[in-house]
Amino acid sequence: MSNSDSLQEIVCCMGQPVAGNPTQFMMERAFVAAGLDWRYLTLEVPPENLEAALGGLRAMGFKGGNFTIPHKVAVIPHLDELSEAAELMGAVNCINREDDNLIGENTDGKGFVQSLREVTDPEGKKVVILGAGGAARAIAVELGLSKVAEIIVVNRSRERGEELVDLLNDRVNVTSKLVQLTGDYCVEEGADIVINATSIGLGDADARVPLDYDSLTAEMVVADVIFNPPQTIFLTEAAARECKTLDGLGMLVNQGIIGFKIWTGVDPDANVMREALEEYLEL
Ligand code: NDP
Repeated sequence: MSNSDSLQEIVCCMGQPVAGNPTQFMMERAFVAAGLDWRYLTLEVPPENLEAALGGLRAMGFKGGNFTIPHKVAVIPHLDELSEAAELMGAVNCINREDDNLIGENTDGKGFVQSLREVTDPEGKKVVILGAGGAARAIAVELGLSKVAEIIVVNRSRERGEELVDLLNDRVNVTSKLVQLTGDYCVEEGADIVINATSIGLGDADARVPLDYDSLTAEMVVADVIFNPPQTIFLTEAAARECKTLDGLGMLVNQGIIGFKIWTGVDPDANVMREALEEYLEL
């Protein structure tokens, strides 16, 4: 397909192909649906070649890209600018080239919040986040910037949990405390939103997040970052208690929508993107 209004551009994903491939499938479908003659490439780049690969991206005039494990932190010194969220998180998963400048953004947390807004406004809400890794950090910072009232971080390792809580209290200016995960976590009364941002459930539909599921109540929104498989025990147990649930596919689609708009300036078709992901994951 070619069209004089949509001269070919290239964006890419650098990192592990396992993370890039579903996104490539989703993006290429969305380019076609939007009438754009663009390409999205998945490129496996080992850590020692990251700097050279970024030189190649600049030299070949790529419009931008996604950066995934293991490059989300290492890419930062090679960029010209960072968004506020990416600077706070200390991690970049999306870059955009404007003239010769590479600008780093983090769309993980924004994708989550956009998905959450489909069911509730985060402002003033009390949030529980299980996990303190990259996904939890991105979501917590973005929820703090969206003016939630409080974030309770529940994490197995105290050190990683404390690092996130300090970032939230000191730099994002949102009240936060740590609960160390030992045994089944009992959700505090008054919590509005409960999020599994651990990697428990990735590639394992039988994996159980350690939670006292009877502490969930029907007015809570319960969200999982796991998108493969998207129907986790965490969400099934929450749905059985009549909570509103959000799966990890929504977050993945929404961060794709945000990246697509950053690169192309065009709003993609969200249904095409979700359907493409479901087809790729054989759901
Ligand atoms: P990290 O490795 O950075 O963090 C993993 C987190 O899970 C840590 O908090 C870790 O705790 C916790 N954890 C892992 N195993 C256990 C366990 N058995 N018991 C208790 N806690 C555990 O991973 P990421 O944050 O980068 O990714 C997390 C998940 O989010 C992945 O599955 C990824 O696929 C998903 N993701 C989904 C996205 C989407 O768009 N839907 C986007 C980005 C990520 P500890 O600190 O104690 O080790």
